[in-house]
Amino acid sequence: EGQQLNKKINFFDKFQEEKLVHSFNIFKKLHEAFKNNEFVPFFQPYVDSKTLSIEGAELLLRWQKDGEIIPPGKFIHVLEHSHLIGDVEIKMVEHVLEVLNNRLSKKLKIVPISINISPLSFSSDVFLEKFNTLLSSNKNLAKYIIIEIVERLFINDFEKMNNLLTSLKELGIQFSLDDFGTGYSSLNYISNLPIDKIKIDITFTRNIEFDKKVLSLVKTIKSFADELGLKTIAEGVENENQLNILKRLKINQLQGYLFYKPMDEISFWNLFDSY
Ligand code: C2E
Ligand code: CA
Ligand code: CA
Ligand code: CA
Repeated sequence: EGQQLNKKINFFDKFQEEKLVHSFNIFKKLHEAFKNNEFVPFFQPYVDSKTLSIEGAELLLRWQKDGEIIPPGKFIHVLEHSHLIGDVEIKMVEHVLEVLNNRLSKKLKIVPISINISPLSFSSDVFLEKFNTLLSSNKNLAKYIIIEIVERLFINDFEKMNNLLTSLKELGIQFSLDDFGTGYSSLNYISNLPIDKIKIDITFTRNIEFDKKVLSLVKTIKSFADELGLKTIAEGVENENQLNILKRLKINQLQGYLFYKPMDEISFWNLFDSY
């Protein structure tokens, strides 16, 4: 019996060890990828629902690995586990500010850029300090930066995060609450957040044509947003039918494959300049 147990322990150790080696390898790979600038920003424009003209773009991370483009679903969680996410996101913020500055100096037009920031980054002092420094030395650009956050951010310390967002908003940054409707928060709780925009989750957009309950939920979200003076954007718009419903509900902005897919940076600015 003792031997049996021993075997089990050995097996367990071996398994743990393999897991450890495996995660260490991934960590090493990601670190190298980061150093080699393999994490690149893609951009997906979003449009005004009335005019359908571009009002901004969301930065969506891609891993450009040996000519292959890997979507964030495959690596974001590993970046979070290895605590590299903050470094990658800071680099994106830095890059966006640089590009916007560059364009301004050439008298080219710019648009607001929405950047996804992980709750993990937002609770890191190192990240916040770097972020603050970047924004403080680019004060004129703060109003062109929209940070997309998720409700999960507020779970641990509502007060702290609330204060943090309030202080960042003083710099001129805007906040958009991503994946709205998929979390746990009550409307009351949301009404206390210093946010500017609510991003209606893709699952609502997907079902709004077929499901009366979803339709009335989106209506409720919209009137709630109006009440609080918040903008609304719907993500994942793929067809004319969804477009017409969302227009009818007066959702302010729309994003989705019907208009534009995420594209590399050169394509995005070319599109915007030829516009
Ligand atoms: P998200 O922020 O909710 O982004 C929307 C996702 O929906 C994107 O997937 C986008 O490509 C996709 N999408 C846009 N329009 C349509 C459409 O019409 N139909 C469908 N089916 N999908 C559409 P993507 O680029 O794969 O990003 C997935 C997630 O990865 C993002 O979800 C976001 O949570 C995360 N992510 C991306 N970049 C970053 C980043 O820099 N930092 C962090 N923390 N997360 C990021
Ligand atoms: Ca987002
Ligand atoms: Ca989303
Ligand atoms: Ca999402």
